Amino acid sequence: MTDLLMIICPSCSTTNRIPAQKLTGSGKCGKCGKPLFEGKPVILNSGNFQKHASISDIPLLVDFWASWCGPCRQMAPAIDAAAGQLEPNVRVAKLDTEAEQQIAARFNIRSIPSLILISKGKEMARTAGAMPAGSIVQWTNQALMK
Ligand code: ZN
Repeated sequence: MTDLLMIICPSCSTTNRIPAQKLTGSGKCGKCGKPLFEGKPVILNSGNFQKHASISDIPLLVDFWASWCGPCRQMAPAIDAAAGQLEPNVRVAKLDTEAEQQIAARFNIRSIPSLILISKGKEMARTAGAMPAGSIVQWTNQALMK
């Protein structure tokens, strides 16, 4: 029996079904042909948030940020690096709290940057404040073990 995982394409948001043992991070989207994992965060918006948060079979780590937030901008390279390390077991994403205020409100974001780990639509863990890449990866892996 083959275990199929639902993986959302970061480029066109199509749901791809990938055999679990083939989840290497090098797969391509069956629709648009672009890589399913690019080693960088997916930009979330009201159009693709639900798919990545609820349909995807891999957990979603979201960086809630805003362009006016200095610590958020400082943490951007760390989020990029963490994406490279956590993929393909975790999808890393960014959500601009100014552009997507409804989603930020739904998660009751009070300070940024905030990191929230979501799996199948449920919040598993959250933390606030800027962190280096190594700490982001460690925090995520610890949260996944609970
Ligand atoms: Zn695609």
